[in-house]
Amino acid sequence: MKSPKNDLIGKTFEALFTLEDIRELIRQSLPGGLSAEEEISFKQKTSRLRDIVESLEAGGAGNNQALPSVVDGIGLRFREEGYINIQPIQAAGRLTPEARKALISYGDGYSTCDTCRKPFRLDKISRPPIADFHDELAEFVNMDVARVVPGARRAFQAVTSSLVEKGDSVIVSALAHYTEFLSVEAAGGLIREVSLDENNLVTADAVAEKIEAVTRETDRTPKLVFIDHFDYQFANEHDVEGIAKVAHQYDIPLLYNGAYTVGIKPVDGKKIGADFVVGSGHKSMASAAPSGVLATTDEYADLIFRTTQMTGDVTGKKFGIKEVEMMGCTLMGGTLLSMMASFPHVKKRTKNWDEEVKKSNYFLKEFLKIEGNEIVSEYPRKHTLTKVDTSGTFDKVAKNNKRRGYFLSDEMSKRGIVGMFSGATRQWKLNTYGLSWEKIHFLSDAFKEVAEKYELNVN
Ligand SMILES: *Cc1c(COP(=O)(O)O)cnc(C)c1O
Repeated sequence: MKSPKNDLIGKTFEALFTLEDIRELIRQSLPGGLSAEEEISFKQKTSRLRDIVESLEAGGAGNNQALPSVVDGIGLRFREEGYINIQPIQAAGRLTPEARKALISYGDGYSTCDTCRKPFRLDKISRPPIADFHDELAEFVNMDVARVVPGARRAFQAVTSSLVEKGDSVIVSALAHYTEFLSVEAAGGLIREVSLDENNLVTADAVAEKIEAVTRETDRTPKLVFIDHFDYQFANEHDVEGIAKVAHQYDIPLLYNGAYTVGIKPVDGKKIGADFVVGSGHKSMASAAPSGVLATTDEYADLIFRTTQMTGDVTGKKFGIKEVEMMGCTLMGGTLLSMMASFPHVKKRTKNWDEEVKKSNYFLKEFLKIEGNEIVSEYPRKHTLTKVDTSGTFDKVAKNNKRRGYFLSDEMSKRGIVGMFSGATRQWKLNTYGLSWEKIHFLSDAFKEVAEKYELNVN
C-alpha cells in the first residue's frame, strides 16, 4: 500500500533506524568512549543521518523511494502515519509519543528490574515510579488496589481462577467477549448468558431473572457476574450500576469490563458498585500490548492478590510475597513503561470524552446522508465505536463490481482511510476515537465522495 505521505514516512523511519544504529555503536563501545575504528563508523552513520534529514527537510523525496524494512521479511508498519485508521479495536490503543519514547528507552528485556530491591515485586519498584503508578491506577478507576496485567483477559483469568470452581456458573451477557468465555472455561466454570432486550441492551431485570433461573436449575448461586459497560459488538451502553445492584442483592460479585471505557472515559468503580474493574491497556490506554489493569476493593484484594504459600520439599524454599495469580510479576520492560508514559495524557483525555462522542455522532449524521445507510448500534451514539449497515448502499454496488466487496476498502484506502474490514459491505464496525475534527470532516467527505462516484443518493 502506498500512502501519499510515503516519502516523508520512509525518510523519518530511515532516520530513526539510523539513530538506532548509532545507538548500537555507542552500546558496543567501551565505557571510555569510541575507539578510532568505531569513530570512523560513527562518522559514516552521522553523515548518512545528515543526508536523510536534509532529504526529509526537502519533503522526503530523494535517492531512495522504497520504504525501509525493520529486517528482511518484516516490513514497516506505518498505518498511523500514512492513513486515517478507523479500525474498531485499534483506535484508543494508538501510542502517544511519550509511550513510543518509553519503548525505545525501556525495550530491553527486564529493564524494569534495574533497581528492584527487596521484597522483589514489580508493583513495589520505586525507580521508575512503578509503585506510585499502581496507586494512581487504583485512584483513576476509584478502587482500592490495582495491578497491571497482560491484557484484560488476564485480569478476567485472575478473577475466575480465584472465585470459580469446577461446575460453578458465571453470568455473562449475550454480547460477551470471547476472552470472558475462555476465562470461565479455564477455571472449569459454566457460562450462562443473559439475553438481550429488543434494543440489544442487557437490563438489570434480565440479569436478575437469569440469576434466579440458574440458581433454581443448579441449586447454587452463580459465582460471578461479568458486565461489559460498552459491549464490543454494538458498543451499546449497558446499565452497569443497575446490574451491580442486582448482583449484590444475590451476594454475587460484579466484574466491570471496561475494555472500551477505562482510558477513554471517566470510570468510577465505587459509584458503579463494581468489585472488579478491568481495563485494557492496548485497547483503550494508549499502551503497547499486552497490557491492562485489574483493580479491586479491599474486600477482594486479599483473595485475588493472595501470596504464595508453597514450600519446597527439598530446599524448604518459600517465595514470600509473590502473588500467585500475577505469577509474581506481570508487565516487564517497555510494555509497562509505555503504559506509564501515556498515563498523564490518558488521564487528561478521559475528560474530553463528550467531545469524542460528539465527533462520532457528527460523522454518523454525515454518513446517514448517504440514502440507505443505517446504524445498527444505538443512536445517537454514546461511544466512538459503531456498527453500521450498508446493505442498502455499498453492498448493492459491490454486487456489480468486479472487486466485489473489496471495492469499498479499495476506494477508501485510495483516499487515505484504512481499518475497515476488507470486503465487508453489509454490517461492519468503525471507530472514530481520537480523530481530530479535520479528520472527521475528511472521513465524512470520503464516504460521500465514494457514494456519489457509484451513483448512490447523497442528501
Ligand atoms: C478487547 C476486549 C477484551 C480483551 O481485551 P484484552 O486486553 O485484549 O485482553 C475483553 N472484553 C471486551 C469487551 C473487549 O472489547
